[in-house]
Amino acid sequence: MISSDIEFDLRHIWHPYTSMTKPLPVYPVVSASGVELELADGRKLIDGMSSWWSAIHGYNHPVLNQAAKAQIDKMSHVMFGGITHPSAVALCRQLVAISAPTLECVFLADSGSVAVEVALKMALQYWQAKGEKRQRILTLRHGYHGDTFGAMSVCDPDNSIHNLYKGYLPPHLFAASPQCGFDSQWNEQDIIPFRTLLEQYSHEIAAVILEPVVQGAGGMRIYHPEYLRQVRTLCDQYQILLIADEIATGFGRTGKLFACEHAEIEPDILCVGKALTGGYMTLSATLTTRKVADTISNGEAGCFMHGPTFMGNPLACAVAEANLKLLLQSPWQQRIKSIENQLSTELMPLKSHEKVADVRVLGAIGVVEMKQPVNMAALQHHFVAKGVWIRPFGKLIYLMPPYIIQPEQLSRLTKAISSAINL
Ligand SMILES: *Cc1c(COP(=O)(O)O)cnc(C)c1O
Repeated sequence: MISSDIEFDLRHIWHPYTSMTKPLPVYPVVSASGVELELADGRKLIDGMSSWWSAIHGYNHPVLNQAAKAQIDKMSHVMFGGITHPSAVALCRQLVAISAPTLECVFLADSGSVAVEVALKMALQYWQAKGEKRQRILTLRHGYHGDTFGAMSVCDPDNSIHNLYKGYLPPHLFAASPQCGFDSQWNEQDIIPFRTLLEQYSHEIAAVILEPVVQGAGGMRIYHPEYLRQVRTLCDQYQILLIADEIATGFGRTGKLFACEHAEIEPDILCVGKALTGGYMTLSATLTTRKVADTISNGEAGCFMHGPTFMGNPLACAVAEANLKLLLQSPWQQRIKSIENQLSTELMPLKSHEKVADVRVLGAIGVVEMKQPVNMAALQHHFVAKGVWIRPFGKLIYLMPPYIIQPEQLSRLTKAISSAINL
């Protein structure tokens, strides 16, 4: 890639959450393999991000490449209206088999945000079919569920996007986020804000949506599984649907295949995405219980009103199916456990650093929360100079490496973080 390409990019192309007038620097990546990204100048960076939770087996994986090639030679895409195909069936079979036993029905969607839209629409249609007008969603502060309007309406209201779109977003209910950490002693007080809101609005609430155990992009907070267990109990008590957004946590990241398993609970609706295709392309799924699916289907509309053009895209389904097989056949529990141990050993000592507010580790997730917001561009430059790819945001410097990372490679990432906080 030549420098005029970068100039064109900065002048004409939006990147995630950036300004067109003051764009942040972008680094040209020309190929990627294993856990390494190769820059245009030949330098290689160890990837600490899994391309936002997705590339769990690393890049350019021969098995996933083969799945894509085999499918592309048959067909890349065919409409899903009135047609089915082997890759979608095989993938959905897998999803039904590995998710909670009560989750039986699968809606394939285009991206995580769309999976959340689908889940919210399902909750609304469910209550409409039952003849009750329930349109409010109860969720947690510091949550993140995506960038489309429905998803945005249940994201943390204080990180400014709600102010930007005030008047356009439905007024949902936000409980204070859980304070009790994953390993701390459970404190009964923690559930009170949630329970209070739920009891107060119980007849208006269609569903609760939350990220089980790990709140990702809204603050990388890791909370006590007992919180989730009590949310499930309260939802049962008031017959409110529970939507688990496992788009970030799904497929092993927290040490369990799904984070709900830490609390041994089953949601009524489950959203998955991100790692679903091993980082190859965009695909997501919304799974529901038979009861939710039947209730919606027996309602006034007689169907669920959603059907994207690229629903069930064969190429994405083929790769996703191969990806899940690869995951299940790998020693993923052992790999994630050893990543967890190493992250704890190498990051926890930073907790006493004067600039550090907290360090949190669960599964293949390591988070260093600073007391002050970091200078993203400066830190990014530092990391690239150290040969690693880590992208901090706000006060957070965090790692979620591919599961195949080797101990020496992981040490390079944690050492780069240690050196960065002293900048
Ligand atoms: C990333 C994410 C989403 C949105 O997924 P996209 O594919 O970016 O639309 C939704 N929920 C959670 C928990 C996520 O981490």
